[in-house]
Amino acid sequence: MTTAKRLLIVASMTFLAVMGYQWGHLDGSEGKTSGLIAESFAAETPPTLSPVKARDRDFYAPNSEDLAPDEMRLIACATGMPTARPKQAASCWLLELGNGDKLIFDIGTGSAERIAAMQIPYNYLDKVFLSHLHTDHFGDLDALFVGGALAGRQKPLRVWGPAGDTPERGTKYALDHLFKALTWDLDGRKGITDPRGYQPFEVTEFDYKGVNEVIYQENGVTIRSIPAIHSLDGPVSFIVEWNGLKFVFGGDTYPNKWFAEYAMDADLAIHECFVSVPDMITKFGFTPQGALSVATQIHTAPEAFGKMMSIIKPRMAVAYHFFKDFDTTAAISDGIRTTYDGPLSLSEDYMVWNITKDDIRVRMAIIDEDVWPPPATEEPLLPDPSLRIPYSDMIANGKYDMYDVIQPTYDEINKKYGLDEKQE
Ligand SMILES: [Zn+2]
Ligand SMILES: [Zn+2]
Repeated sequence: MTTAKRLLIVASMTFLAVMGYQWGHLDGSEGKTSGLIAESFAAETPPTLSPVKARDRDFYAPNSEDLAPDEMRLIACATGMPTARPKQAASCWLLELGNGDKLIFDIGTGSAERIAAMQIPYNYLDKVFLSHLHTDHFGDLDALFVGGALAGRQKPLRVWGPAGDTPERGTKYALDHLFKALTWDLDGRKGITDPRGYQPFEVTEFDYKGVNEVIYQENGVTIRSIPAIHSLDGPVSFIVEWNGLKFVFGGDTYPNKWFAEYAMDADLAIHECFVSVPDMITKFGFTPQGALSVATQIHTAPEAFGKMMSIIKPRMAVAYHFFKDFDTTAAISDGIRTTYDGPLSLSEDYMVWNITKDDIRVRMAIIDEDVWPPPATEEPLLPDPSLRIPYSDMIANGKYDMYDVIQPTYDEINKKYGLDEKQE
């Protein structure tokens, strides 16, 4: 680049910076500004604006971007509390890898609809890792199980989760009984739908006391678990390593020594960061005693979150498990910043991180609320009507005669698809 050209660019950059114009993406560190002039030199030329050409957009639209072979994409499907609300469902994180793997970490109450918003074929969404068995971390497993099978998952749902200190407190017990609780639902689908997705959960239970022990190793991905300290024995956190990248998903916990050691130098580390004590009292209605106990002893207070991140020094620290509102976020941020000054994302539902060795890009996803299930990746099996469980005579005889009003639909579909289907 000639000196004259460089000077021209510096002048135009300075002008645009003064005018408050920004380009390029942010580094995701809240409260930091990006180095406009330095970034623009890296890009060599300033952006060319046009009244008719679209500019690069700075949001993520599901089903609109390829994933590079060396790239991780993390989506905060849900970041909130046990009481799910429209803005935030309860803990759920979708990790997509450039090798095609898609791993779900926690599937808390209300989160299945957020997964649906990502427009991913359900056959790819067959692996779930549970940090513990609070409903805000697994309460929508039934929704993914049934809804996913209905929408194209033609294989069993695989679930990894900790054993408890007794069999009754373990993942296998919980899922065996969840499956039993779905007896009426599943019996009613026999003979009507492709049965392959409705098989019992394939549960892999592992020792919650295992320290950095491998619990999953497939397709170049290694996942280890470490213990967490939360409510009872049993909760864990997960450490994922793939392609030279390290991703850590911390489940609920009081800050613990295993996280401090094994989450060290993560490319991205998620750790819970709980609602501030004053907000627990005034907004959540907790007693002062209850708020202190839950928000600082059962969970991780913002100051403690910051201290943990100062120890492990991730390329990006991600805080979740608080209601992120206009009047609560400052208390969280202020608390964290008393002990940590590194890169930070205060997460909310639909935040997205693209992670490579060189860059971590943070954006929000824009969601199509009218989304339908994506295409199935395999042809569905035709249902076997002989598997239907019939109505009793008393119930069957209560059918009002609708034959004539429904028959035109049969005629239309039979003609269009060359079938000879008859009403029951
Ligand atoms: Zn919990
Ligand atoms: Zn929780």
